[in-house]
Amino acid sequence: ATPAAVIAALGRLAGTGVLIKGGSALERLAGVTAFAFDKTGTLTEGRLELGDVIPLSGATPDQLLAVAAAAEQRSEHPLARLLVREASSRGLPLATVDEFRAHPGAGVTARAEGGALVVGTRRLMEERGVTLPPEAVAALERLDAAGQTSLVVARAGVVLGVLGARDTLRPEAAHVLAELRALGIRPVALLTGDRAAVARSVAEQLPVTEVHAEMLPAQKAEWVAAQKPASAAPSSPGGETDSNSNPAREEQRPTTDPVAGPVATRAPESLPDFPGEGVGGRGSSVAFVGDGINDAPALARAGVGIAIGSGTDVAAEAGDVVMMGAPLAPLPLLVKLSRETVRIIR
Ligand code: ADP
Ligand code: MG
Repeated sequence: ATPAAVIAALGRLAGTGVLIKGGSALERLAGVTAFAFDKTGTLTEGRLELGDVIPLSGATPDQLLAVAAAAEQRSEHPLARLLVREASSRGLPLATVDEFRAHPGAGVTARAEGGALVVGTRRLMEERGVTLPPEAVAALERLDAAGQTSLVVARAGVVLGVLGARDTLRPEAAHVLAELRALGIRPVALLTGDRAAVARSVAEQLPVTEVHAEMLPAQKAEWVAAQKPASAAPSSPGGETDSNSNPAREEQRPTTDPVAGPVATRAPESLPDFPGEGVGGRGSSVAFVGDGINDAPALARAGVGIAIGSGTDVAAEAGDVVMMGAPLAPLPLLVKLSRETVRIIR
């Protein structure tokens, strides 16, 4: 519904690798007061490296890796790719499996000759009736302390071991988040399926305002949907005085109070008026940035879903905005342009 101003803004974004699906996404972005980020592959590079390998129940490190990689052969998750790559570089043959199932935010299950395979979180083990021996619990705690993402590997109900993985923060992440805060964005939240200790160690290196760990994909979507437009418009751009990087170390918000009743139709001064685009709707004030495989629900529920695209990524279809090149760097410019564009239109 918009003329020259949108076209001009799109022109300034050309070459940054940002794809905006329609002018209305840009307009909705102008009304965004909060940002939420996924961790793996979004704030981090998503090119994982193998960390500690802790075999249990008499397994060898190679057996542990081979079983995990066999289960992960058909998963697109960065952890899965790491395990398959590692098994292949060690020359480990992978057993054929069937009944493969991916459990977003939790892991994978499959059936192999030696029995049912379960690879993933402690919660997934519990759901599948796998009991963790004390050595596995201790191993997970050691990996937490080391800031490593972890997963448990079980076959036929027996825990064969625990694996750790390390990821690298995107070098631009801290600066980009600081710029968003300077633009008045609150909260700048980290939402992750990873364990609290790992989330905290990432959050310590970033100017996020809140952290939520061990969230399933549906819980990320619920969090996004429950955000209400801030009561005041983003104020004092550049006037950021609160440099406290992460005051809130909460694990989870109370989920008992989702959006109570319809959200105010517009936040003063901050939301543009464009009918039919869900202004004032659930989650309309928040932009969610995710790469995932797992993040499609949150991308869909957000006022603006920003997908880190890899071309074949399913999330690229879910997003209103797709970042192809440098995935985080253009975000502050995008917010500034959207605000300018809306000012010009009105
Ligand atoms: P994030 O929110 O950081 O992107 P995910 O939601 O993708 O994390 O995953 C959360 C946790 O679930 C991981 O830390 C891992 O323990 C487990 N997990 C998810 N997918 C897999 C998988 N394919 N194989 C093993 N574990 C997995
Ligand atoms: Mg993810």
